Amino acid sequence: MKTILKTEITVKDICVGFVYNELEGKGLFGLNGKLTIQPEYQRNYIYAEGDGKREMAVIESILKEYPLGLIYFNKVSNEKLEVLDGQQRITSIGRFVNDKFAIKDKNGMEQYFSGMAEDNQAKIWKTKLLIYECKGGESEIKEWFETINIAGVPLTSQELLNAIYSGSFVTLGKEEFSNSQNSNIQKWSAYIKGSANRQDYLECALDWASKGNIGGYMSSHRYDKNITELKTHFNSVIDWISSVFVDVESEMCGLEWGRLYEKYHNKSYNPAKISIEVQKLYGDSYVKNRKGVFEYILGGFVDTKLLNVRVFEESIKKSTYKKQTIQTEKKEISNCPYCAIGHEVNKNKIWKFDEMDADHVTAWSKGGKTIAKNCEMLCKTHNRAKGNR
Ligand SMILES: [Zn+2]
Repeated sequence: MKTILKTEITVKDICVGFVYNELEGKGLFGLNGKLTIQPEYQRNYIYAEGDGKREMAVIESILKEYPLGLIYFNKVSNEKLEVLDGQQRITSIGRFVNDKFAIKDKNGMEQYFSGMAEDNQAKIWKTKLLIYECKGGESEIKEWFETINIAGVPLTSQELLNAIYSGSFVTLGKEEFSNSQNSNIQKWSAYIKGSANRQDYLECALDWASKGNIGGYMSSHRYDKNITELKTHFNSVIDWISSVFVDVESEMCGLEWGRLYEKYHNKSYNPAKISIEVQKLYGDSYVKNRKGVFEYILGGFVDTKLLNVRVFEESIKKSTYKKQTIQTEKKEISNCPYCAIGHEVNKNKIWKFDEMDADHVTAWSKGGKTIAKNCEMLCKTHNRAKGNR
């Protein structure tokens, strides 16, 4: 099966020679007779009559410049195409420009195509559709049609965005970030997951520069003649990572470096000292999440939750609870050591096991181990107040 992505076909092209079967509620032909909207094997497709909301939504999407999604054509011959997926959208468009239904304007008034302002009409005519033209045998096409309907489109989100916002900016972006011959790729691959040809580096660069709003960024830069800002920002992040963390660890790959850069790049770090800290944490068997090591260090060794430090085993908690409770019951004070020394109503309260949590007497970050000797049970309130130190 061969597929080609077409991005230059407009609504106007599609609607030339649009034929609509009023009785069956079906769009039949378009593209000057070249396109069959309802191919034989899709006879069971019934355009939901009275489903006006969906029809209107298609037109409103065009006017708001929202993507309409991919449309699939089957190329039967040079002069014959069939719609594999997208009948409903195409039929809606064809019906609208032929005044078969109206949309509602801002004031809730019905508006037919022929009554629209010329610039809005032009906008609709000029709208380009994203069309995949496929060529293959009938059984192959059928099978494939089922697959796309079940599993969705075989495009990554960035590939789709590249198609939607095609233009000089995407072209330049791809030259830099989607070129597997670019000698920087090896360096980038230490920090970014994926591959150049599936657009993962471009996606990452855009994500970092746009602070997560890739579509908006691509839309506003679509016709730019350079990608200087994108490149500069990307390189700043990469340079920052490699200057702060001199050793490359496999867990660094795929971290949210864009976010970390925004948060921490104005702080100063001592790379030699950081290198030692990374190795120390990597060697600590209590650190269960090595991916969290880098943010933990950048944040000043405070948020141990990032490291998912090993917690006390249930048996240690139970024996500690038992010991603590027997001792304090005799003294008629609370089995939570913090409640016991307070002046609150809970001064004498004996908490149940499930009302308490285990805490490190000497904090893990200060070298305290996760062993029975270093375990104490606190009521949940005091455990939370003491924090995850
Ligand atoms: Zn307490």
